[in-house]
Amino acid sequence: MQDPEVRAAEQLLAPAHSVLVISHVRPDGDGIGSLLAFTLLMQAAGKRVFPVLADGAPDRFGYLPGAESILHAPTEKPDLIVAVDCSDLGRLGLSEEQLGGRPDLSFDHHATNTYFAGVNIVVPAAAATAEVLYDFASAVGFRIDTAVATCLLTGLVTDTVGFRTENVTPKVLRLAATLVERGAPLAEVYDRGLNRRSIPAARFWGRGLSSLGWDDGIAWASLTEADRRAAGYVGSDDADLINLLTTLDGALVALVFVEQPGGRVKVSWRSTAGVDVARLAQAFGGGGHEPAAGAVIDGALDQVRTQVLSTTRSFLHTSLGPHA
Ligand code: AMP
Ligand code: MN
Ligand code: MN
Repeated sequence: MQDPEVRAAEQLLAPAHSVLVISHVRPDGDGIGSLLAFTLLMQAAGKRVFPVLADGAPDRFGYLPGAESILHAPTEKPDLIVAVDCSDLGRLGLSEEQLGGRPDLSFDHHATNTYFAGVNIVVPAAAATAEVLYDFASAVGFRIDTAVATCLLTGLVTDTVGFRTENVTPKVLRLAATLVERGAPLAEVYDRGLNRRSIPAARFWGRGLSSLGWDDGIAWASLTEADRRAAGYVGSDDADLINLLTTLDGALVALVFVEQPGGRVKVSWRSTAGVDVARLAQAFGGGGHEPAAGAVIDGALDQVRTQVLSTTRSFLHTSLGPHA
């Protein structure tokens, strides 16, 4: 984190009386954890804060401190707009007009971040935006209480899938320990953030798994709107099925295709070391990190799947060469 950016962010924050904080559509634990942590920090600094998620808060994170105050859209024009864990403007899910302006400040860790805000604190080496926020809070002297620590630990635990990703450094583990020292309940954060599943989610997984495809190191599954209805699953995401596919023996790349209303398909990629799926996702208008990326693609499920699998296959061969 660069000192001039930290100072620039401080100067933006100091005079603001009201702050709108926003994260990305289909929010994950880092999106909502970072959103709520920053909301709490700003409230403690005496500001009026509006936490906004275009899609609202997923049920599993409803227990986090401040989750009940999350809005779907701004209710008034704030002095300052802050984006967290969001790589580009489109991912906010609200237009500039709906937001009341362009974000003034952004905290993020996506390698594909487009530097869309006035001041951008983007640290691609960080395991989660929660880590970026903790470092910022430490640099400017904000106090991390139990509530903030719980939100930050949620970001850290979920983005690293329980400290299982390659970007988990000793620093990340020390940060987790510090947050636990501040009172964050690790077992509960882990269980609620990663383990708990609803019965409809399990049924949705079942339908997805029955469509499992496998070809030369590529594993994929598809989830249709009909699957969602039959399972009774609420939400437009994959219920985390992608993290299950990454555990399959020999899988170099895992993909999940989720049919969306309106003729679009959400694609998630996960890869093992050496295959930069963020570049693949970018080629389809999405983004993410080297080992985890996503895109929303226009088209019918079958057509999108065929095209994405073919591109992924060629990309894999170029990245690694032909393999067994
Ligand atoms: P997901 O597959 O949705 O869990 O996303 C994996 C990673 O890629 C996360 O870091 C997301 O923030 C990022 N990502 C997912 N979808 C998009 C998108 N449409 N545009 C940019 N980044 C995305
Ligand atoms: Mn996120
Ligand atoms: Mn993140």
